[in-house]
Amino acid sequence: MQVQVLVLNANFEPINVCNTRRAIGLILSGKAALVTNGRGYIHTVSQNYPRPSVIRLEHMVQRARPRVKLTRREVFRRDGFICQYCGRHVIDLTIDHVLPRHLGGLHVWTNVVTACASCNHRKGARRLEEAHMSLLHMPKEPPASAIYIFGHHLPDNHEWEPWITGW
Ligand SMILES: [Zn+2]
Repeated sequence: MQVQVLVLNANFEPINVCNTRRAIGLILSGKAALVTNGRGYIHTVSQNYPRPSVIRLEHMVQRARPRVKLTRREVFRRDGFICQYCGRHVIDLTIDHVLPRHLGGLHVWTNVVTACASCNHRKGARRLEEAHMSLLHMPKEPPASAIYIFGHHLPDNHEWEPWITGW
């Protein structure tokens, strides 16, 4: 019942991922309809329910433009798990504030980059020019496309692809 289900808005825009239990609750209460089954059936004493993979809400949910949440994991993902100073792909990744926080640097997409521990240590609490270091790429907010937000679910849920691409 914990298997993930893709939730589409009434206009078919993918908006969320929930678990099977929640998806079946939405279907049984008439708030959503099954779009893709593909996972067999749930057997109860009286009935068999399709095990949903994709559902669609009956009524449009209005929401603000989606944005990628600023977390360590998402910063690493945006930067391809590569240190933005030396270009190395290492395990001991850290978050570096390009303009250090104690100098007024904000915790925003355009001021955070992935750095390996040794580059982060070398830069210290200094500005780039003071540390004589430069960035491989200027940090930007990643696009909040459906493929960026939900794409990491595709290896386990191939059937979601046509519902995710193009949004
Ligand atoms: Zn580095």
